[in-house]
Amino acid sequence: MNRSVIFQVVIAGLLQAFTSFGQNFHLLPEPNYMTSREGVYFVADRVELFGDVPEFSVINELQKATPKKKTDKRTRRIMYIFDKFVLDEGYWLSVEDTLVTIGAATTSGFLYAEQTIMQLRQEGAFMKLPGLEIIDSPRFGWRGMHLDESRHFMGKEFVMKYIDWLFSLKMNVLHWHLTDAPGWRIEIKKYPKLTEIGAWRPDRSGLSFMEADTAKAGEAMTYGGFYTQKDIKEIVRYAAERNITIIPEIEMPGHTTAALVAYPEYSCTGGPFPMPGGAKNSPYPNFCVGNEDTYEFLTDILSEVAELFPSEYIHIGGDEVDRAQWSKCARCQKLKGDLKIEDDSKLQVYFTERIEEILAGMGRKLMGWDEIMEGGTLTPSAGVMVWRGEDLVRKATAAGHQVVVTHNYYFDLYQGSPALEPVTYGYLPLERVYTYEPVPSGSTDMERANIRGVEGCLWTEMIPDSKKAEYMLFPRLLALSEVGWTQPEKKDWKRFVSSLPKYLKWLDEQQVSYATSVFDPQIKLAPEGGVMTCQFSQQIPQGEIRYTLDGTEPGAGSALYTTPVRLRGKSEIRAKAFYSAGKSSKTAAASYLPSLATGKQFSLKFQPAKQYNGERPWILNDGVKGSFSFNDGNWCGFYGDDVELTLDLGEKQEIKSLRANFFEQERSWIYLPEAIEVERSDDGNNWTTIASNPGPVADGKEGIKTINLVFEGVKTRYLRVKARSKGQHPVYPEGKCWIFMDEIELNQ
Ligand SMILES: [Zn+2]
Repeated sequence: MNRSVIFQVVIAGLLQAFTSFGQNFHLLPEPNYMTSREGVYFVADRVELFGDVPEFSVINELQKATPKKKTDKRTRRIMYIFDKFVLDEGYWLSVEDTLVTIGAATTSGFLYAEQTIMQLRQEGAFMKLPGLEIIDSPRFGWRGMHLDESRHFMGKEFVMKYIDWLFSLKMNVLHWHLTDAPGWRIEIKKYPKLTEIGAWRPDRSGLSFMEADTAKAGEAMTYGGFYTQKDIKEIVRYAAERNITIIPEIEMPGHTTAALVAYPEYSCTGGPFPMPGGAKNSPYPNFCVGNEDTYEFLTDILSEVAELFPSEYIHIGGDEVDRAQWSKCARCQKLKGDLKIEDDSKLQVYFTERIEEILAGMGRKLMGWDEIMEGGTLTPSAGVMVWRGEDLVRKATAAGHQVVVTHNYYFDLYQGSPALEPVTYGYLPLERVYTYEPVPSGSTDMERANIRGVEGCLWTEMIPDSKKAEYMLFPRLLALSEVGWTQPEKKDWKRFVSSLPKYLKWLDEQQVSYATSVFDPQIKLAPEGGVMTCQFSQQIPQGEIRYTLDGTEPGAGSALYTTPVRLRGKSEIRAKAFYSAGKSSKTAAASYLPSLATGKQFSLKFQPAKQYNGERPWILNDGVKGSFSFNDGNWCGFYGDDVELTLDLGEKQEIKSLRANFFEQERSWIYLPEAIEVERSDDGNNWTTIASNPGPVADGKEGIKTINLVFEGVKTRYLRVKARSKGQHPVYPEGKCWIFMDEIELNQ
């Protein structure tokens, strides 16, 4: 063999090794080390499990559920070997043609190896597995998912399904939000009214949670439900078999209305309080922290909770407390005096530390939302769940708290274009869940070590039932499973996307109502050479997009989208993706209504915020109006600044009217401008005011507010529109007011 032949053989060998490393078995989460044995398959009609088989074995369960056939001939072995050198929850797995071997030091490791086997199974036999070797262990010890059952009660069957999904994806924490303002969901034997009264509210089905009004006197309380202690024991046992720890959350000292409707004596005022029907007119009383009886009440509750849940942590909420209530309470004020503290946030710290002591007496640790750090003196032993952003992750890890990162994983947020999705708020697309790095850059080793893990949240204000919960959960849960398990250098968005079809099929088989928003067309208009063009895209490009411009529903025979479409006059744009065999997306729609202003060049004195079209300000005159959702991609958001827009019509033209839309939504800090002024100019230097207007009138109703200015005999080339911001936020002086504006129309 001459040298060049040897060289070629070596190269061929390297290439083969490279291909085997690159082989995609579509495992989720992706293992941290994997290599395949080319051409090797383990094929079995039945399997025998040997060695340190876990008491609850997924493979054993599967085999029990699979009827034996007469034709079954090949029985092969799976060996379970205790290996003390394997990391916690980790495992190694070797698949050869006649033997599968699993090594682990923990039951969870054996279970996760089995889950890997379940995902590797190929069609053709009871068990057909590709030959390979895997060495795997999780990045984080806390891979959680939260479920809010206070806003809407889902029930035992759904919770068990939820646990099954988490287990399949190697997640290990269910954070169970059992109490909050509109419902108390856990039986407490010593205080039966918590569920007799607190678990039931008036039925407001058909109304959104935000519009659902508080109970009227004498109204029947028929909507709700709760878990008995027997149910909870069953669910906790079911979860534990699947390596899932349930962390119960018992909210205090705020978000406690349901408890205080039942036992108003533990509030500052003594009540009584009506039961919320949802959010509308709901009272939000706190526990009175200056009343010793409150601590006795909570100790009794927490001791029953601790009996039911063997978790290391018990979550006490602690978020969004209206601390001003304590300022009006003589007992709370006396406590403040006794403690020599002036700040109500320190009163919450005092409360949190008392509860932490109570829990410590039960051998448990306290965890709460990041507000529990406010006041700055909380003991480092308390665990902190961060929901309000990366800076608080830095602050909490630096202060020595164990931290769970949730702020990028709110699955109640929109996952696609608001116009095509069930009404909610915010925006969290699949790719953002997958690619966001939960450990802040620049963290020290100590700070990194304090990050316990990640958790997705499913708040259910806008999620009335389990089908909708599934829709918000999937596919984002698939992405989160890799964030928690897979090392950052092994993460790969493209590989993840290529695995999606397999997991969507898995969800189809279980009849899960997952979202397909990633395939829905997104419509964007942009000026190109003085003409408006329309572009379609998808979060995950797949299949083909077909469109119409006359408002008819796109079908398989409609125009196929390939390059940006030039718009010639008024158009009703419709687009639909045919993303896989027999499957089509929702239909995206936009009305293009050009005016004299459409597509004309303009400049802005202050730029809109990056996340609200800072990079595509031309949407202000693209001919498409923003919808009732300010984050639909059609609104420009200006933070604290005036809008000052100078438009060049290209030549002197007569204008008769100007219309512009603004958005009002005070709870999102979006205010109407204080005044509008319009100026004209022939040369762009000398300006004359042609209209001055107090602006649209705020009426407190959320939505679009329009100004319509009419001119007489105005001819101009340049036009300047100024909308004056309120500037500083009227309630929170550290914040500023937003102006949201869209679509300037000029008519002749
Ligand atoms: Zn009080």
